[in-house]
This record gives sequence, structure tokens and C-alpha cells, in this order.
Amino acid sequence: MRRRSDCRLCGSRQLERVMSLGTTPLANAFVPASERDKPQEQFPLDVWICRDCAHVQLRDVVDPELLFRRYVYVSGTSPVFVDHFRRYAQAMQQLLRLPPGAQVLEIGSNDGTLLRFFKDAGLQVLGIDPARDIASAATAAGIPTRPEFFTRALAEQLRTEGWRPSLILANNVFAHADDLHEILDGVTRLLAPEGVFVFEVSYLLDVCEKALFDTIYHEHLSYHTVKPLVGLFARHGMELIDAIRVEPHGGSLRGIAKRQGGRLPKQARVEQLIAQETQLGLHAPEAYRKLFADIQQRRKELTALLQDLKRQGKRIAGFGAPAKATTLMFHFGLGPQTLEYIVDDSPLKQGLFSPGHHLPVVGSSYLYDGHRPDYAVILAWNFADSIIAKHDAYTRSGGRFIVPLPKVEVRP
Ligand SMILES: [Zn+2]
Repeated sequence: MRRRSDCRLCGSRQLERVMSLGTTPLANAFVPASERDKPQEQFPLDVWICRDCAHVQLRDVVDPELLFRRYVYVSGTSPVFVDHFRRYAQAMQQLLRLPPGAQVLEIGSNDGTLLRFFKDAGLQVLGIDPARDIASAATAAGIPTRPEFFTRALAEQLRTEGWRPSLILANNVFAHADDLHEILDGVTRLLAPEGVFVFEVSYLLDVCEKALFDTIYHEHLSYHTVKPLVGLFARHGMELIDAIRVEPHGGSLRGIAKRQGGRLPKQARVEQLIAQETQLGLHAPEAYRKLFADIQQRRKELTALLQDLKRQGKRIAGFGAPAKATTLMFHFGLGPQTLEYIVDDSPLKQGLFSPGHHLPVVGSSYLYDGHRPDYAVILAWNFADSIIAKHDAYTRSGGRFIVPLPKVEVRP
């Protein structure tokens, strides 16, 4: 791990800390039974704002080899995301009207779910993704994918191989990458003269509005608002021409950029979103201090509730083990003293143990058999409604759910 001394976007050293979430293990570092007794390394989780460009970010950078080479998240496994990518590809086709054979490149292409829609439309596609297993599976499934990080050097090499994509896509990469300048240098070297660069990131405005503080973890180095991004693109001879709010992950931003002077017009939405951000105070430290204070209040309420239930001898489990549960559990003190195990519907996580606390992850049958908890704390709380609806047999048998955020609630 290393700690940056400057702003990832503008290089300023005027960084101010706005949240300190203690230390946590890596959010996705679930371990097998054989490693259950080994302590895991923890890293500081502090959030900073740049006083010059207003970019919100982590300064502590965990080695990307550690985070992304053995990445397990596969987007094609979630029907919600497949549908999102289908509509995403349609929107790009409507905007750009790419002719058959035009080139589309995606940075951080994961299993190729998005690129497949472009391929099916007759375009020539290429994925870049450092997760070796996912990249080779995507290639085998017909979406050629290079198992690499996207760098200037790789962009140069692709150019010599004849790549001049009309569209370069990057989803979540702008949150994950430490060196955004390297990525944009590569993009500007590679992009066709009238081409566009399109990216999606989690939108900090949604994080604040919906109290999604648990999306703060080490994979997410940047928490984007529109205003600092305008400056970032300008530094690379590009222009942000559109900024659209879209829904996956509880609230994202889709940005569209082109070379300065190209044919596509700039949409009014860019300035409108900047005005909205300004109104909410998102370009200054106070908004984040207030969010942090609200989170601390929820933490107090939840802790008091759980301590009371424990005193009554109630059995308590966690429900849902997404990456963000790690931040929630560590910051809210939800460890083995409180939770017996974590229920998760994904077979990929069942049989593993949660990062740091090493709570067993089990299937949802535990809600119904001899293990049944009296209370299940919903760690994937932004999906609380659908989880409660799906497991109404648990609540009908007397079990109850606890929703920790945006306010602490016992349901039903
Ligand atoms: Zn800055």
C-alpha cells in the first residue's frame, strides 16, 4: 500500500480529510476454510476532498495486482446488469450510429456482457481486463479479451495492430484506477478522430442522497462528481459533452467525452448536474462531514438495538455478503460477538468466510432449518425490500429483519 500526497485529478496537495472509517480488510477478500485462522491484513479507510478541484478520493492505494488479478465479480450473472448493458448498448448505437465493422473497445470489460451486444450488432469488439480467469473465459466465449491493465504502452501497441476505436467504454474503471491520466493518455492515443469515450461510475450525489457510505472501500479510489471531471478531460484535450444519471449499483453517472472540437454537441445536462451538486454543497468538505455524522448516529442506534436483543438471548445473523458489507460491518462493529453467520443467495460465496471477521457464509436454508435466527440484519440494505419479499416464509415463521440504513428499522 502507498499513500498519495496529491489529488488524483488535478495534482493539488490541498487535501482535506472528511471521513475516517478506521481500518478494514479488502472488501472482497472472502477466505476459504483453510485460511480461517489466519489474520488478514487491514488498510486505513479515510476519505479526502481536494480543496482545489473538489474531487473526493482515497489517498491510500492498495496494489491493484492484489485487488484485480483474481477478481471474482462477474457482471453477466446478474439479470439486472445484463438488462442495463442491453439498454446502454442501444443508447450508444442511437447516439453514434456506428457502421458495421466499426471498432468498439472496452477497458475493464469483465466477462464481456456489454461488448456482446455490440458484437451482435455487427461491430468489431475488443475487451481489456486484468482478471486473467475472467478474461480467458470471455475470450473462449467469443469476446476477445486481453488479460491486461489498460496503459499508454498497451494503447500504443493496439494502434500498431490497427485499432482506432470509434467508441471506447470504461465502466467503474474511473472509480477503481489510481492513475486516471494514464488511462486518458491511452484513450487519446487510440480513439478515432470523431470517436467518443463513455464511462460509468457510481455517482457521489447518489451516495450522499442515499447514505450509501458503505460503497466506500479500497477498490473505489474515487467518488466522482461532474465538476472535477470537466477539468480532468480538459487537461487531456477532451471535453465532457454529456452526464446522465443511470440506475445500476443504486445510482451511477454516465459520462460521454470527445476530443475538443468534434462534431457532437455538448448537452445542457452537464451544467445542470454541476448546479445541482453545488446546491447540495458537494464541492466542499461540510456535506461529507454531515453525512459522516448521520452515519455515526445510525451506528449508535443499531448498536443499542443489537445489544438489547443480545441481552434477551436472541440469535442474530447477517443477510447478504456484497463487498460493501465489509465496510458496514467493520464500521458498525458487526462482528462475531453480534452475528452468528451471514446468509447469501450466491453459491460463489457460500462455504467461504467473511473478510476479517471470518463469519461463515451460508445458504438461505439457514433461515428455515434448525439454525433459524430470531433477527437477520440486512447487510445488502439497499435491496432490503426485495430480500424481505423473497423470504416472507422466514418472517411468517416469526423471524424478523433489521434494516440498518438509511434509518434503523425492524421489519415486519
Ligand atoms: Zn484536485
